Amino acid sequence: MILVCNDDGVHAPGLAVLAAALAPLDRVFVVAPDREQSAAGHAITLSRPLRAELLREGWLAVDGTPTDCVNLAVNGLLDERPWLVVSGINRGANLGDDITYSGTVSAAMEAVLQGIPAIAVSQAGKSNFDYGAAACFAANLCRVVKHSGLPDDTLLNVNVPENCKGEGFVVTRQGRRRYGDAIVEKTDPRGRKYYWIGGDDLGFDDEPGTDLAAVHAGLVSVTPLHLDLTNHGSLGFLDDIQKTWAPD
Ligand code: MN
Repeated sequence: MILVCNDDGVHAPGLAVLAAALAPLDRVFVVAPDREQSAAGHAITLSRPLRAELLREGWLAVDGTPTDCVNLAVNGLLDERPWLVVSGINRGANLGDDITYSGTVSAAMEAVLQGIPAIAVSQAGKSNFDYGAAACFAANLCRVVKHSGLPDDTLLNVNVPENCKGEGFVVTRQGRRRYGDAIVEKTDPRGRKYYWIGGDDLGFDDEPGTDLAAVHAGLVSVTPLHLDLTNHGSLGFLDDIQKTWAPD
């Protein structure tokens, strides 16, 4: 069984296109948030109960986050353990630093935490989304994973550009985006201030080999991610402090 999830909500067109594309590979079960949960990150709901509503055969809507959906599906809702979790197809790219905010990628992260191989798929663009090419690529990649598996603790972050060039892909690492730090401050009709986060997109560091550079060049980007956030390059720095540690 393949479990399909997303963060755009159970009614998002990218989810239906993905589920349909994966159907020839195996039984597909969809468990997705009942509404948009973009930028939910890896949040899990612990302060209230969750409810799952059967929309139709093989399609469940959960009133929670993408992480809730995968956790609940694997540990409670499904009658068999999926061999693969695929998240998407997200409406918009998940590249560089944005991955840390992404509900799409977090659903795949949750699968890896549950010991299941996972792929996150995102369609770059701002409007007029067409998920056909991304769905076709995802199905082909899942066919390979079905045959070869994935290394332990690994999820694949796939980003498909608009007007994709060619049928292949490039193997990339996580890049860096540049953001403006603008906060928009306004006043509501009752005289209270409110704020919008979301600075201007100032582009990105165009470093070769990154996910951002690949998608900007019109190529499908596949980045292997893991959940170890340890900064291995800084261990030595801390070791030095620890050796000379002299509390007052
Ligand atoms: Mn989204």
